[in-house]
Amino acid sequence: MGTRTVRFRCHHTNHCCRDVVCLPTPYDVLRIALETGANPYEFLEFLRPNEITGVAKNDPTWLIADGQRYIMALKRDERRGCYFLNRRTRYCSIYEHRPNLCRLYPFKVQETRDGRFKGFVLHRDVGCPRHRDGVVDVKPLYDLYMNDRMHQEDYARMVADFNARDCPGRRPESFLELFIELVYE
Ligand code: SF4
Ligand code: SF4
Repeated sequence: MGTRTVRFRCHHTNHCCRDVVCLPTPYDVLRIALETGANPYEFLEFLRPNEITGVAKNDPTWLIADGQRYIMALKRDERRGCYFLNRRTRYCSIYEHRPNLCRLYPFKVQETRDGRFKGFVLHRDVGCPRHRDGVVDVKPLYDLYMNDRMHQEDYARMVADFNARDCPGRRPESFLELFIELVYE
């Protein structure tokens, strides 16, 4: 499988929960809603291209609503950070149910030139203090990555389906109707 460990230890600086926009998949949204009772219409927001950096223009999860592009994100306050960050403890209030992206951060998949899995490295461009005083096992990260990849593929299919039916006046929140009824049945 490649490198079996990566050197890192989280020092709970909160940077990732305060300064990084988290993009959940519909699976993450459903899990959070079902397990915590939180309302997706309250904890999500839909960002325009000028409100987020680092998402490629051709990313398959851009929603089209009323002719505009939006991406689904966890709501975030510029000063206080993620909607789910507990201001007092400075820990995630939904830790057991947090999105896969939060579980993977700050690790990033490294591939060989021909696209085979090589290992995990630490993100370079997101400002996480890269403390090297710990050792993280790659296997659970790999399982999580494979699981997230499947979720991302389903997500892209759902978005393509949604985008194929744009109509005047539609809001990006309508995307939730494709899967959120499951929570309230
Ligand atoms: S930014 Fe890095 S060190 Fe800080 S809490 Fe997040 S993962 Fe941990
Ligand atoms: S869901 Fe939790 S772990 Fe993820 S960014 Fe928000 S507070 Fe941090």
